[in-house]
Amino acid sequence: MQAPDGKSERNLHATSPSLVEVECLSRTIRSRNRTIPILENITFTIPAHCLFAINGPSGSGKSTLLNMLTGIDRPSSGHILFCGQELRAMSENALARWRGRHVGIVFQFFQLIPTLTALENVLLALELGGGGGLKRRQWRERAMTCLELAQINDLAHRLPSELSGGEQQRVAIARAIANDPPVIVADEPTGNLDSRTAHQIFETLASLTQHGKTVIYVTHDRELAEQAHERIDLCDGQLVKSNLAQISGSKSHTERTMQ
Ligand code: ADP
Ligand code: MG
Repeated sequence: MQAPDGKSERNLHATSPSLVEVECLSRTIRSRNRTIPILENITFTIPAHCLFAINGPSGSGKSTLLNMLTGIDRPSSGHILFCGQELRAMSENALARWRGRHVGIVFQFFQLIPTLTALENVLLALELGGGGGLKRRQWRERAMTCLELAQINDLAHRLPSELSGGEQQRVAIARAIANDPPVIVADEPTGNLDSRTAHQIFETLASLTQHGKTVIYVTHDRELAEQAHERIDLCDGQLVKSNLAQISGSKSHTERTMQ
């Protein structure tokens, strides 16, 4: 992970290969002897180091899709290739290990441990996640770097109850990047925040792409989704639009960053 000053930042956008390839993905559920489609035949790709939005109204299938991308839920049919690896082929145990290494999760309601300070919440993530390849004596420095990237290092010693909603979400972002996963997923991370704070949190998530992360951001907020590098729009479980940049006639994130 690069330092917040960005000095050591590599040219991460030099090549933007697909990090995730989703092909003909469907999910149905059985309820009262009926088969109900939740997602139908979804195909798209997510470039590496991209801020990618999954947009759509409530009930359109955004969380279901995200849960399949992170291997929490299984597709009924179709494929998800994550860095070339087929998630469907992995056992539950292998998926859990894979998720721990590859994905950091930011929740709508923060889900911090209330009795731990901001710093301790991030240290706990390092403890549970194996320390992101670092030695234990390096964890505190790593945790402070994560809090700095999330712009909440000044309040590292506060308990969640002493922080505003936006500040708590910053701690949750720091926690999500603690073990240095390549992908951050966030399901309605600003759904519980006022619009000004929501934009600030969005900016912080966007800034992580400058530090090598791919950020997958689920939101029903059209305005925020339109600021992503790329996006898909879902409606009633179907993909209705993809790739904001191409829709607006300009070059896609991938095309821009390949130049
Ligand atoms: P979103 O995140 O866009 O609000 P969801 O992915 O949570 O949408 O849900 C999409 C649709 O699937 C909704 O109509 C929801 O009620 C339904 N759904 C999701 N999971 C289940 C389930 N386990 N059982 C029944 N219906 C479900
Ligand atoms: Mg949802």
